[in-house]
Amino acid sequence: MTTHGTLGVAVIGVGTMGADHVRRINDVISGARVAAVADIDGDRAKALAETIEGCAAYADPAAAMASPEVDAVLIASPGPAHEEALLTAFEHDLPVLCEKPLTPDAASALRVLEAEQRLGRRRVQLGFMRRFDAEYLRLKKVLDEGRLGRPLLLHCRHRNASVPPYFTDAMLINDSVVHEVDCTRWLLGQEITAVTVLRPAPSSDSPEHLGDPQLVIFETDGGALVDVEIFATCGFGYQVQTEAVCERGTARIGEGHGMLTCAAGRWGGEITRDYVERFEDAYDREVQGWVDATRRGEVIGPSVWDGYAAAAVCEAGVTAQTTGRRTTVELAERPAFYT
Ligand code: NAD
Repeated sequence: MTTHGTLGVAVIGVGTMGADHVRRINDVISGARVAAVADIDGDRAKALAETIEGCAAYADPAAAMASPEVDAVLIASPGPAHEEALLTAFEHDLPVLCEKPLTPDAASALRVLEAEQRLGRRRVQLGFMRRFDAEYLRLKKVLDEGRLGRPLLLHCRHRNASVPPYFTDAMLINDSVVHEVDCTRWLLGQEITAVTVLRPAPSSDSPEHLGDPQLVIFETDGGALVDVEIFATCGFGYQVQTEAVCERGTARIGEGHGMLTCAAGRWGGEITRDYVERFEDAYDREVQGWVDATRRGEVIGPSVWDGYAAAAVCEAGVTAQTTGRRTTVELAERPAFYT
């Protein structure tokens, strides 16, 4: 499994997330090294590889995955490039950590689902990192223990200070709310069956092409309702909050009660700037968990099925957004392979 006692990882796509994962593997976690980086921007790959001992640079992800130095692959290229990279990793039978989304739509996600099943065993951990966040893990434990009774509602808030100018309405669902899709499925252990999107009059600070904020409502097959406020241009910072309302109590996370300062007659704290800061520990645990499991010959965490289900819900979400109608989710039957 490992070339030099440690797991030789090829990181595919070294933009914001890929470069951060390279730093993480190099400086933070144990048991792995960055053996190769690949980016269609070959100069970017080369510049990064030069900072890491024994790291080769490629412009072609397939060439990186064919290297004998590479034992596992971390895919951090944009979503539309994931299917090809995943199928190439499968050809080499390499374990994969794939950033979300699995792929940008349900049809391509289904192709990956079928390809992984043909391998006969799971190879992919999907990068829904909130499942590794300490607060989310605590909430999951409370709900699973059942002492608050059955969860009836989830109230979720997902706020970004700002988004790039190319960010679209569909991206609110596919890039942001996709995390609440996965958290809902994971926290409740239920599938999402229908999506409705409601819009207030947009914020005057939101770009003209973006109807921001929006309220996204999920119905689940266990009878729960979930509301998600997505506010991508709130201006003041990055906030992700979830409150579970159960039969005999509530549980809330994401209040951001870190250090409290008192000075000059005021008290206050800080709001994280972005996801890299808010979920730093979760990313560390996610990648360490992947490396440890891979070295044991195991696969943990969110699966290709979770990626497919998220893609199917997001597709319904974008339809609900554009038509203004409640939209049911079309989901294939879950293969026994993923139970
Ligand atoms: P980015 O644009 O900053 O970086 C993408 C990099 O991939 C660029 O360097 C680009 O040149 C390269 N690239 C493009 N096509 C490629 C291909 N076919 N093969 C190899 N490299 C290619 O994007 P990002 O923000 O780093 O996002 C990367 C992935 O991470 C996306 O799937 C995104 O959805 C995901 N992401 C996840 C989180 C999270 O919280 N888990 C947060 C942000 C982004």
